[in-house]
Amino acid sequence: MDVDVLVVGGGPAGLSAALILGRCRRNVLLCDDQQQRNRASQEIHGLLGSNGRSPEQFLRDAREELAGNGTVLIRRSRVTKVDPSGGGFAFVCADGTGGIAAKVLLATGLVDELPQLVGVEAFYGISVHHCLYCDGYEYAGKRLAAYGKGDKGADLAVMMKHWVKDVVCCSDGTEVSGEAINRLRQHGIGLRRERIRSLEGAKGALARINFESGSHLACSGMFFSTGCRQASHLSEHLGCKRDVKGGVITDPVTEETSVPGVYVAGDVSRDVLLVAVALGEGAKAAVAINKAFLRREGLCE
Ligand SMILES: Cc1cc2nc3c(=O)[nH]c(=O)nc-3n(C[C@H](O)[C@H](O)[C@H](O)COP(=O)(O)OP(=O)(O)OC[C@H]3O[C@@H](n4cnc5c(N)ncnc54)[C@H](O)[C@@H]3O)c2cc1C
Repeated sequence: MDVDVLVVGGGPAGLSAALILGRCRRNVLLCDDQQQRNRASQEIHGLLGSNGRSPEQFLRDAREELAGNGTVLIRRSRVTKVDPSGGGFAFVCADGTGGIAAKVLLATGLVDELPQLVGVEAFYGISVHHCLYCDGYEYAGKRLAAYGKGDKGADLAVMMKHWVKDVVCCSDGTEVSGEAINRLRQHGIGLRRERIRSLEGAKGALARINFESGSHLACSGMFFSTGCRQASHLSEHLGCKRDVKGGVITDPVTEETSVPGVYVAGDVSRDVLLVAVALGEGAKAAVAINKAFLRREGLCE
Protein backbone atom coordinates (compact mmCIF):
# COMPACT_ATOMS: atom_id res chain seq x y z
CA MET A 1 0.00 0.00 0.00
CA ASP A 2 1.46 3.40 -0.99
CA VAL A 3 0.40 6.41 1.10
CA ASP A 4 1.38 10.05 1.46
CA VAL A 5 1.69 9.78 5.23
CA LEU A 6 1.98 6.89 7.64
CA VAL A 7 0.78 8.03 11.07
CA VAL A 8 1.99 5.66 13.78
CA GLY A 9 -0.19 5.95 16.89
CA GLY A 10 -3.84 6.89 17.26
CA GLY A 11 -3.92 8.83 20.52
CA PRO A 12 -4.81 12.54 20.51
CA ALA A 13 -1.62 13.51 18.62
CA GLY A 14 -1.96 10.99 15.78
CA LEU A 15 -5.72 11.49 15.35
CA SER A 16 -5.35 15.28 15.32
CA ALA A 17 -2.65 15.05 12.63
CA ALA A 18 -4.75 12.61 10.58
CA LEU A 19 -7.73 14.98 10.74
CA ILE A 20 -5.77 17.93 9.32
CA LEU A 21 -3.98 15.77 6.71
CA GLY A 22 -7.32 14.26 5.65
CA ARG A 23 -8.74 17.76 5.26
CA CYS A 24 -5.74 18.49 3.01
CA ARG A 25 -6.86 15.45 0.95
CA ARG A 26 -3.65 13.55 1.63
CA ASN A 27 -3.75 9.76 1.67
CA VAL A 28 -3.11 8.73 5.24
CA LEU A 29 -2.76 5.34 6.88
CA LEU A 30 -3.04 5.59 10.67
CA CYS A 31 -1.98 2.46 12.56
CA ASP A 32 -2.68 2.21 16.26
CA ASP A 33 -2.54 -0.63 18.75
CA GLN A 34 -4.78 1.28 21.19
CA GLN A 35 -2.58 1.42 24.26
CA GLN A 36 -3.11 5.15 24.86
CA ARG A 37 -1.28 6.40 27.87
CA ASN A 38 -4.33 7.67 29.80
CA ARG A 39 -6.55 4.63 29.17
CA ALA A 40 -6.62 3.81 32.93
CA SER A 41 -8.14 7.20 33.67
CA GLN A 42 -11.89 7.86 33.86
CA GLU A 43 -11.88 11.58 33.10
CA ILE A 44 -9.72 13.89 31.04
CA HIS A 45 -9.04 17.11 32.92
CA GLY A 46 -7.67 20.39 31.64
CA LEU A 47 -8.92 19.98 28.08
CA LEU A 48 -11.00 22.97 27.07
CA GLY A 49 -14.44 21.91 25.88
CA SER A 50 -13.91 18.28 26.90
CA ASN A 51 -13.16 18.49 30.62
CA GLY A 52 -14.41 15.38 32.42
CA ARG A 53 -15.04 13.28 29.30
CA SER A 54 -13.53 9.78 29.50
CA PRO A 55 -10.44 9.10 27.35
CA GLU A 56 -12.34 6.19 25.80
CA GLN A 57 -15.27 8.38 24.73
CA PHE A 58 -12.95 11.13 23.52
CA LEU A 59 -11.02 8.73 21.27
CA ARG A 60 -14.16 6.97 20.05
CA ASP A 61 -15.68 10.32 19.01
CA ALA A 62 -12.42 11.35 17.33
CA ARG A 63 -12.20 8.09 15.37
CA GLU A 64 -15.84 8.46 14.28
CA GLU A 65 -15.13 12.00 13.10
CA LEU A 66 -12.26 10.71 11.00
CA ALA A 67 -14.25 7.81 9.58
CA GLY A 68 -16.12 10.26 7.35
CA ASN A 69 -12.91 11.32 5.63
CA GLY A 70 -12.33 9.40 2.43
CA THR A 71 -8.53 9.67 2.38
CA VAL A 72 -7.79 8.53 5.95
CA LEU A 73 -7.65 4.83 6.72
CA ILE A 74 -7.40 3.69 10.36
CA ARG A 75 -6.06 0.23 11.18
CA ARG A 76 -5.84 -1.36 14.61
CA SER A 77 -2.35 -2.77 14.27
CA ARG A 78 1.17 -2.21 15.55
CA VAL A 79 3.80 -0.87 13.12
CA THR A 80 6.78 -3.12 13.63
CA LYS A 81 9.27 -1.66 11.16
CA VAL A 82 9.94 1.60 9.30
CA ASP A 83 13.02 1.99 7.10
CA PRO A 84 14.12 4.68 4.64
CA SER A 85 13.53 3.51 1.08
CA GLY A 86 13.91 5.38 -2.22
CA GLY A 87 13.18 8.85 -0.83
CA GLY A 88 10.29 7.55 1.28
CA PHE A 89 9.83 4.93 3.99
CA ALA A 90 9.00 1.23 3.76
CA PHE A 91 6.80 0.04 6.61
CA VAL A 92 5.49 -3.23 7.98
CA CYS A 93 2.61 -3.78 10.42
CA ALA A 94 1.89 -6.72 12.72
CA ASP A 95 -1.29 -7.55 10.75
CA GLY A 96 0.76 -8.02 7.58
CA THR A 97 -0.01 -4.60 6.04
CA GLY A 98 3.03 -3.10 4.41
CA GLY A 99 3.91 -0.43 1.89
CA ILE A 100 5.68 2.84 1.20
CA ALA A 101 4.94 6.19 2.82
CA ALA A 102 6.36 9.48 1.57
CA LYS A 103 6.40 10.86 5.14
CA VAL A 104 6.11 9.30 8.59
CA LEU A 105 4.61 10.83 11.70
CA LEU A 106 5.46 9.10 14.95
CA ALA A 107 2.75 9.80 17.54
CA THR A 108 3.57 6.72 19.56
CA GLY A 109 3.48 8.17 23.09
CA LEU A 110 5.09 7.04 26.33
CA VAL A 111 4.64 4.23 28.83
CA ASP A 112 4.57 5.06 32.54
CA GLU A 113 6.50 2.97 35.02
CA LEU A 114 4.07 2.29 37.85
CA PRO A 115 5.36 2.02 41.41
CA GLN A 116 5.78 -1.67 42.26
CA LEU A 117 3.11 -1.70 44.97
CA VAL A 118 0.62 -4.43 45.76
CA GLY A 119 -2.82 -3.38 44.54
CA VAL A 120 -1.67 -0.32 42.57
CA GLU A 121 -3.48 -1.29 39.32
CA ALA A 122 -6.89 -1.04 41.00
CA PHE A 123 -6.26 2.62 41.89
CA TYR A 124 -4.12 3.85 38.99
CA GLY A 125 -5.81 6.61 37.01
CA ILE A 126 -8.60 6.99 39.61
CA SER A 127 -6.87 7.90 42.89
CA VAL A 128 -3.21 7.11 42.14
CA HIS A 129 -1.73 9.55 39.62
CA HIS A 130 1.52 10.89 38.25
CA CYS A 131 0.44 14.31 36.92
CA LEU A 132 -0.53 17.19 39.19
CA TYR A 133 -1.63 19.30 36.24
CA CYS A 134 -4.06 16.55 35.23
CA ASP A 135 -5.47 15.53 38.62
CA GLY A 136 -4.14 17.74 41.46
CA TYR A 137 -7.05 20.20 41.40
CA GLU A 138 -9.62 17.58 42.42
CA TYR A 139 -7.91 16.92 45.80
CA ALA A 140 -8.27 20.33 47.47
CA GLY A 141 -8.93 19.86 51.19
CA LYS A 142 -7.92 16.19 51.18
CA ARG A 143 -4.80 14.35 52.34
CA LEU A 144 -2.43 13.08 49.67
CA ALA A 145 0.63 10.86 49.73
CA ALA A 146 3.66 11.63 47.58
CA TYR A 147 5.46 8.45 46.49
CA GLY A 148 9.04 8.37 45.29
CA LYS A 149 12.29 6.64 46.11
CA GLY A 150 15.17 8.60 47.61
CA ASP A 151 14.75 12.38 47.24
CA LYS A 152 12.26 12.05 44.38
CA GLY A 153 9.28 11.67 46.69
CA ALA A 154 10.38 14.70 48.71
CA ASP A 155 10.72 16.87 45.58
CA LEU A 156 7.24 15.81 44.49
CA ALA A 157 5.76 16.34 47.97
CA VAL A 158 7.06 19.93 48.14
CA MET A 159 5.54 20.72 44.73
CA MET A 160 2.24 19.13 45.78
CA LYS A 161 1.91 21.69 48.59
CA HIS A 162 0.77 24.15 45.93
CA TRP A 163 -2.31 21.97 45.26
CA VAL A 164 -3.09 20.58 48.74
CA LYS A 165 -2.18 21.51 52.32
CA ASP A 166 -2.00 17.98 53.78
CA VAL A 167 0.82 16.03 52.11
CA VAL A 168 2.81 13.08 53.45
CA CYS A 169 5.96 11.87 51.69
CA CYS A 170 6.46 8.08 51.39
CA SER A 171 9.96 6.88 50.49
CA ASP A 172 9.09 3.15 50.60
CA GLY A 173 12.11 1.93 52.55
CA THR A 174 14.67 4.12 50.75
CA GLU A 175 17.01 6.73 52.20
CA VAL A 176 16.16 10.42 51.93
CA SER A 177 18.98 12.98 52.11
CA GLY A 178 19.30 15.40 55.05
CA GLU A 179 18.79 18.29 52.67
CA ALA A 180 15.48 16.84 51.41
CA ILE A 181 14.35 16.12 54.98
CA ASN A 182 14.99 19.77 55.87
CA ARG A 183 12.91 20.92 52.91
CA LEU A 184 10.06 18.63 53.95
CA ARG A 185 10.22 20.09 57.46
CA GLN A 186 10.23 23.67 56.17
CA HIS A 187 6.99 22.96 54.29
CA GLY A 188 5.32 21.04 57.13
CA ILE A 189 5.36 17.72 55.25
CA GLY A 190 5.52 14.44 57.18
CA LEU A 191 7.87 11.64 56.06
CA ARG A 192 7.10 7.91 56.18
CA ARG A 193 10.25 5.94 55.43
CA GLU A 194 8.84 2.43 56.00
CA ARG A 195 8.40 -0.03 53.17
CA ILE A 196 4.88 -0.09 51.82
CA ARG A 197 3.07 -3.43 52.13
CA SER A 198 -0.10 -2.64 50.15
CA LEU A 199 -2.65 -0.07 49.04
CA GLU A 200 -6.20 -0.40 50.30
CA GLY A 201 -9.53 1.11 49.29
CA ALA A 202 -12.70 0.37 47.34
CA LYS A 203 -13.90 0.97 43.75
CA GLY A 204 -10.64 2.65 42.78
CA ALA A 205 -10.71 5.12 45.68
CA LEU A 206 -7.58 4.82 47.81
CA ALA A 207 -8.32 4.90 51.56
CA ARG A 208 -5.05 3.88 53.20
CA ILE A 209 -1.44 2.90 52.64
CA ASN A 210 -0.39 -0.10 54.72
CA PHE A 211 3.24 -0.26 55.82
CA GLU A 212 5.30 -3.36 56.54
CA SER A 213 5.81 -1.97 60.06
CA GLY A 214 2.13 -2.72 60.71
CA SER A 215 1.00 0.91 60.81
CA HIS A 216 -0.94 2.71 58.09
CA LEU A 217 -1.55 6.15 56.59
CA ALA A 218 -5.11 7.23 55.81
CA CYS A 219 -5.21 9.26 52.57
CA SER A 220 -7.53 10.03 49.64
CA GLY A 221 -4.99 9.70 46.88
CA MET A 222 -1.36 9.28 45.93
CA PHE A 223 0.85 10.93 43.34
CA PHE A 224 4.05 9.21 42.29
CA SER A 225 7.33 10.10 40.70
CA THR A 226 8.84 7.06 39.02
CA GLY A 227 9.48 7.63 35.33
CA CYS A 228 8.38 6.80 31.83
CA ARG A 229 9.86 5.49 28.58
CA GLN A 230 9.12 5.60 24.87
CA ALA A 231 6.24 3.27 23.89
CA SER A 232 7.89 2.43 20.56
CA HIS A 233 11.42 1.69 19.38
CA LEU A 234 10.74 3.20 15.92
CA SER A 235 12.33 6.63 16.54
CA GLU A 236 15.46 4.94 17.85
CA HIS A 237 15.53 2.48 14.95
CA LEU A 238 15.23 5.36 12.46
CA GLY A 239 18.09 7.20 14.20
CA CYS A 240 16.10 10.23 15.41
CA LYS A 241 18.19 12.27 17.84
CA ARG A 242 17.00 12.34 21.45
CA ASP A 243 17.56 14.68 24.37
CA VAL A 244 18.86 13.71 27.81
CA LYS A 245 15.36 12.81 29.01
CA GLY A 246 14.93 10.41 26.07
CA GLY A 247 12.49 12.70 24.24
CA VAL A 248 12.80 12.90 20.44
CA ILE A 249 14.27 16.27 19.43
CA THR A 250 12.17 18.20 16.91
CA ASP A 251 12.28 21.41 14.96
CA PRO A 252 10.11 23.76 17.07
CA VAL A 253 8.28 25.05 13.98
CA THR A 254 7.71 21.87 11.95
CA GLU A 255 7.96 19.01 14.51
CA GLU A 256 10.36 17.32 12.03
CA THR A 257 13.05 15.16 13.64
CA SER A 258 16.75 14.97 12.77
CA VAL A 259 15.74 12.40 10.11
CA PRO A 260 14.24 14.29 7.13
CA GLY A 261 10.69 13.15 6.42
CA VAL A 262 10.11 11.79 9.93
CA TYR A 263 7.98 13.95 12.22
CA VAL A 264 6.83 13.45 15.80
CA ALA A 265 3.88 14.77 17.79
CA GLY A 266 2.55 14.36 21.31
CA ASP A 267 4.30 12.77 24.28
CA VAL A 268 7.12 11.30 22.13
CA SER A 269 9.02 14.59 22.36
CA ARG A 270 8.49 14.68 26.16
CA ASP A 271 7.65 18.35 26.04
CA VAL A 272 4.47 19.24 27.97
CA LEU A 273 2.64 15.93 28.45
CA LEU A 274 -1.00 16.94 28.12
CA VAL A 275 -3.79 16.02 25.70
CA ALA A 276 -4.19 19.66 24.64
CA VAL A 277 -0.51 19.85 23.68
CA ALA A 278 -0.65 16.48 21.87
CA LEU A 279 -3.60 17.74 19.81
CA GLY A 280 -1.74 20.96 19.00
CA GLU A 281 1.51 19.22 18.06
CA GLY A 282 -0.40 16.78 15.84
CA ALA A 283 -2.02 19.67 13.99
CA LYS A 284 1.30 21.52 13.74
CA ALA A 285 3.12 18.50 12.30
CA ALA A 286 0.28 17.92 9.82
CA VAL A 287 0.48 21.49 8.52
CA ALA A 288 4.27 21.18 8.16
CA ILE A 289 3.93 17.87 6.30
CA ASN A 290 1.32 19.33 3.94
CA LYS A 291 3.56 22.35 3.32
CA ALA A 292 6.43 20.02 2.40
CA PHE A 293 4.12 18.33 -0.16
CA LEU A 294 2.95 21.74 -1.48
CA ARG A 295 6.59 22.77 -1.98
CA ARG A 296 7.31 19.53 -3.82
CA GLU A 297 4.25 20.16 -6.00
CA GLY A 298 5.44 23.73 -6.78
CA LEU A 299 2.41 25.23 -5.02
CA CYS A 300 4.25 27.12 -2.30
CA GLU A 301 7.69 28.56 -1.60
C1 LIG B 1 -3.29 7.93 33.97
C2 LIG B 1 -3.10 9.15 33.10
C3 LIG B 1 -4.01 10.19 33.18
C4 LIG B 1 -3.84 11.31 32.38
N1 LIG B 1 -4.74 12.33 32.51
C5 LIG B 1 -4.63 13.41 31.72
C6 LIG B 1 -5.57 14.48 31.85
O1 LIG B 1 -6.49 14.44 32.68
N2 LIG B 1 -5.41 15.55 31.04
C7 LIG B 1 -4.39 15.64 30.12
O2 LIG B 1 -4.32 16.63 29.40
N3 LIG B 1 -3.48 14.64 30.00
C8 LIG B 1 -3.58 13.53 30.77
N4 LIG B 1 -2.65 12.52 30.66
C9 LIG B 1 -1.59 12.65 29.66
C10 LIG B 1 -2.13 12.21 28.29
O3 LIG B 1 -2.60 10.88 28.40
C11 LIG B 1 -1.05 12.27 27.23
O4 LIG B 1 -0.44 13.54 27.22
C12 LIG B 1 -1.65 12.00 25.85
O5 LIG B 1 -2.30 10.76 25.82
C13 LIG B 1 -0.56 12.04 24.78
O6 LIG B 1 -1.13 11.72 23.55
P1 LIG B 1 -0.27 10.97 22.44
O7 LIG B 1 -1.17 10.88 21.25
O8 LIG B 1 1.05 11.61 22.30
O9 LIG B 1 0.03 9.51 23.04
P2 LIG B 1 -0.96 8.35 23.48
O10 LIG B 1 -2.28 8.88 23.87
O11 LIG B 1 -0.22 7.54 24.47
O12 LIG B 1 -1.16 7.51 22.15
C14 LIG B 1 -0.10 6.83 21.53
C15 LIG B 1 -0.68 5.67 20.74
O13 LIG B 1 0.33 5.12 19.89
C16 LIG B 1 0.21 3.71 19.93
N5 LIG B 1 1.48 3.10 19.49
C17 LIG B 1 2.70 3.16 20.06
N6 LIG B 1 3.60 2.51 19.31
C18 LIG B 1 2.93 2.03 18.23
C19 LIG B 1 3.30 1.28 17.09
N7 LIG B 1 4.57 0.90 16.89
N8 LIG B 1 2.35 0.95 16.17
C20 LIG B 1 1.05 1.34 16.34
N9 LIG B 1 0.64 2.06 17.42
C21 LIG B 1 1.57 2.40 18.34
C22 LIG B 1 -0.14 3.41 21.38
O14 LIG B 1 -0.69 2.12 21.53
C23 LIG B 1 -1.17 4.53 21.62
O15 LIG B 1 -2.45 4.11 21.23
C24 LIG B 1 -2.76 11.41 31.47
C25 LIG B 1 -1.83 10.36 31.41
C26 LIG B 1 -1.99 9.25 32.21
C27 LIG B 1 -0.97 8.15 32.16
